[in-house]
Formats: sequence, C-alpha cells, structure tokens
Amino acid sequence: MATPIVHDQEKLGTIYIQADLSKIQITLFRYVGFGALGLIGASILAWLLGAKLQIIISQPIEQLATAMRAVSKERNYERRVKMARKDELGSLIEDFNEMLGQIQLRDQELQHKQTRLDYLAHHDTLTGLPNRLLFHDRLSHAISKAKRLNYPLALLFLDLDRFKNINDSLGHEVGDQVLRQVAKRLETLVRDSDTLARLGGDEFVIALEQTKEARDVTIVAKKILESLSEALQVGPNELYVTTSIGISLFPTDGEDVESLMKSADVAMYRAKECGRNLFQFFTMDMNERVREALFMENNLRKALDNQEMALYYQPQVEMSSGKLIGMEALIRWHHPQLGIIPPLKFIPMAEDTGLIIPIGKWVLGTACRQTQQWQEAGYPPCKVAVNISPKQFRHSDLVETVAAALKDSGLDPQFLELEITESVLMEDMEQSIATMEKLKAMGITLAIDDFGTGYSSLSCLSKFPLSKLKIDKSFVQNIAELSENNAIAEGIIALAKALHLEVIAEGIEGERQIDFLQSKGCKQGQGYYFSRPMPADAFEQFLARESAFSYRRLAAD
Ligand code: C2E
Ligand code: MG
Ligand code: MG
Repeated sequence: MATPIVHDQEKLGTIYIQADLSKIQITLFRYVGFGALGLIGASILAWLLGAKLQIIISQPIEQLATAMRAVSKERNYERRVKMARKDELGSLIEDFNEMLGQIQLRDQELQHKQTRLDYLAHHDTLTGLPNRLLFHDRLSHAISKAKRLNYPLALLFLDLDRFKNINDSLGHEVGDQVLRQVAKRLETLVRDSDTLARLGGDEFVIALEQTKEARDVTIVAKKILESLSEALQVGPNELYVTTSIGISLFPTDGEDVESLMKSADVAMYRAKECGRNLFQFFTMDMNERVREALFMENNLRKALDNQEMALYYQPQVEMSSGKLIGMEALIRWHHPQLGIIPPLKFIPMAEDTGLIIPIGKWVLGTACRQTQQWQEAGYPPCKVAVNISPKQFRHSDLVETVAAALKDSGLDPQFLELEITESVLMEDMEQSIATMEKLKAMGITLAIDDFGTGYSSLSCLSKFPLSKLKIDKSFVQNIAELSENNAIAEGIIALAKALHLEVIAEGIEGERQIDFLQSKGCKQGQGYYFSRPMPADAFEQFLARESAFSYRRLAAD
C-alpha cells in the first residue's frame, strides 16, 4: 500500500507499507478446506445414516406394502415377508405373516368347502353317483356331441320294482343299503364314457353314448337285469331286487334332454305294466297311453263333484251260520263313457295325485251315513269296514276326518272298522301306533287287510292296537288238498289266535275253502260264495232278506 506524504501542498515523499498475506490466505484456505471436508463428511454421514435408516425402517415397510399389493392382486396367500428382526417392525412383519397364514388356512378351508359343496350339488350323497342336475348337464353335452358327430345315443331309465316294500317293511336303513349296492352293481356295467346317475328314490338313469345299434342297448339292459337278479346281502337279509327299464333313443324318441327323459320314463312305466323285471323300448303308441292316463286323471278330479263315485257293499258272514256280521264298503267309479271302473284301476292314481284324500273322506262319510241309515231303518246293526289307503292313513287329517264322519252321521263308533294294509304298520311305526291308538280311543276297530302279502314283522304285530287280520284272498282262493297256501292260511289263523285277534278270510268262492278255514278255527268269511259286492239298494234288499231270515231263525230256535 502507498500513501504520499504532503506538507503545504508540497509532496515530501511516499510511505510504502508492504505486508505478506499469503499466510492469511493459507489459513483461510485451510479453514475453507476444513469446512468443505466437514460438510462432505457430514453429507456422507447423513447419507450413510439415511441409508441405514432406510434399511432399518422404510425398506421393511416397502416390502410389506409390496407383499400386500401382491397378495391382494394374485390372491396368493402362500407369500411371506422374509425378514428376521427383533424390533417393533420385526413383530409387525411377524404379525403380517401370521395373518397371511391364517388367511391361507381359511382360504384352503373355503376352497375345500367349495369343492365339497360343488360335489354335493352334483352328486347323490347316498350312492356317490351323479345326481339329476349333473346328469342333465352331461346328457345335454352328450346330445350336442351326438348331433355334431351324428352319433346315436340311448337313455335307460331304471326304477326298482316294489322297492317301497323293502323300505316299508325292513326300514330305510336297509333300503339305503340296497340302493348303494344296486348303484355299485350298475357302476360295473357301464363304460367310462357312459353316465350313470341316481335321480332320487329308487330311480337310476344311464346315458349310453355311441351305441351303434339297438342291439347294443339290449345287451346292456339284459346285463343289468341279470346282474340285479343275484341276491343282495344286506346285513342278515338276503334280498332280491329287480328293476324295470325304459329305453329311449336319440334322435328318434326325443331330441333334447326333457323329451328323451320323458320317453324313457313312459317306456319304464310300460315295463312295469308288462310285469316288471324287464326292459321296454319307447314306442309312439306309448304317448297315447300317457295321454289316456292324463285324461283319466283329469276325469278323476271331477268324478266326486259329478257324483260318479258309488259305494258297493259286500257282506261279511259268520261261516257256521251264514249270519251277517258286517260289510265291506268298496268304491266304484261310474265313468260316463267308460262305465264302471274298479278301484284297482284308479285308487293307485288317486294315491299318486293326492286325490285319495277327498275320495277317502267321501268314502268314510258315505259309508258311515249309509250304515247309520240302515240301522235307523231297523235292520240288524252290523259293522261297516272301510278301506284306508296308506297315503290316507298318514295324512294328518285322518283322525279328524273319521271323527267328523262319525259325528255327522251319528254312527256309533263300534260299528266302524278301518282296514289298513301291512305297509302302514312298517313305515314310521311310532307315528302309525300313535294314530291307531287315537282311532282306537274313539271306539272304532282296526283290521289288517290282505294280511300275508306284505312284509310285516311278526314280532312287531303285537305292538299295534289291532282287532282283526284279514287273510288275503290269494291264500284263500287256492286252498286245495295239499298246497302251501293252506299252510299260510293256517299259519295266519294260528297267529291271530295267539295274538287274540279276530280273523276273517276274504275271497271265499267255494265250500272246500269254508270247510278248511273252519276246521282251522277261522270263523268269519267274505267272498263271492256268500255274495258279490252290491250297490246300496241291492244290499238293502239283502239286509231285508237277511233280517227276515234271522227272524225266522229266531222263531225256529
Ligand atoms: P280289498 O280291500 O282286499 O277288497 C276285496 C276285494 O276282493 C274287492 O275288490 C272285492 O270285490 C274282491 N272280492 C271279494 N270277494 C271275492 C271273491 O270271492 N273272489 C274274488 N276274486 N274277489 C273277491 P274290489 O272291490 O275290486 O277292490 C279292490 C281293492 O281296492 C280293495 O281290496 C281295496 O284295497 C281297494 N279299495 C276298494 N274300495 C276302496 C276305498 O274305498 N278306498 C280305498 N283306499 N281302497 C279301496
Ligand atoms: Mg279291504
Ligand atoms: Mg283284501
């Protein structure tokens, strides 16, 4: 630095001052350097700390978030976040994994249940076979395939013969086992490409694909009948089950599931009508029969309103004297076009359609009223026996219906007898006994009709409040010198005696039967030998003769 020295405007000289700044600068540089280094160090430290912090905190959170996103996107609950830590985040991850584990478990259970539900929805639980739903599906696929490739296709509709008897008499347990065994046998007879299914009850269906000709179907049907003809071993029972088979062919008998099934069903009914244990191919005239059946059903619905029903009465007598002891009311249908239709032709239809309930009510009411009228007219009082069908017996209204019939007619209950069949005894025994006890408490009596044709267990017979056994006419009609029917009739008489029950034989047509039955101790009888069933007015004339006859007999005594 230079400064001039001036005195009285005269420059005296110049002062020069010189200093060395390099030291300061070096110091300054040193400071700046240190500062910068410190900054860099701090930055590195901060960066290192940040990275560490990220490793410690945000990375696991990020991983958790990624895992969560993946799980919710892929629904893959097997995923786990892998990280072992001992801090709070560690336990968060652990909890998260644990939660995934539980969800995975529940998911598996759910899937398992879903599979099971699917299976249940499409299979029959008893036999494990496909059910109606799955069969419908498979058949409709088979039909599309057959259409596309021009293949033939056959549908077999099976219904076991008299399976209800087994169920009723030996119980549902045995019935179930029979169905399982039948299913197993059928399974061995069908190829993998065929579908066997159980529609429910005792109905099975088989769809045979690619059957070249009807003969192939015949072979399968024959094999089925043959295979079922061998005894089934169910517990201690050796049972014989047969089946009736209806067959429909695609495309002739139907081009869709419904029509093919319907045709096979119709053919199956035809097989039953033809005597069971056989197979029938569908034919067009069967449709005619279906129409007829429908026509009859419609007619039956109107029959009561149109007053087409009538009761006939058949005498029941004491065989030694020929004295009238009772009468059985037997229904007849006077069809406007078809004439008199016997009960066996329409009672089954009435049972199937539920029409048996109003019809049965009408029978009870009419029989009670008629019997009371005859008593009021002064004819010797006798019992009226009324047939009660199984469905009617199990209908909740029965006791009330009977009570109403008695009340409305004024008939003394001791003059009413109800005839029930053996099947009623075996099905739902507790309930049957309860109903029978109620009826008995009203003062009416109960008889077992057609005894010997069902499968009632003799050991149970004494549990029911019964009064009478009616020996079925099949055992009575063929009574001959040496016949096993004699033994059955005799056995039933002995059984009735042992159980302190009355016994009556039905279907008596000749003296030989009377002699035999009386010699074995059966005192009551009913049959054409004494009289055919008669309309009410004819029966009244019979009553008039009978009372005159008994008055004569009294006078003679
Ligand atoms: P069921 O109760 O065993 O009646 C006896 C059947 O045998 C009657 O047939 C009767 O006419 C017939 N019969 C009587 N004596 C003889 C004989 O000596 N020889 C022969 N071959 N047959 C004889 P029907 O009247 O045709 O009745 C048949 C079945 O229909 C009855 O059998 C009964 O189970 C049922 N039924 C009849 N009326 C009614 C009814 O009002 N309600 C119900 N639910 N079923 C009825
Ligand atoms: Mg009867
Ligand atoms: Mg009978």
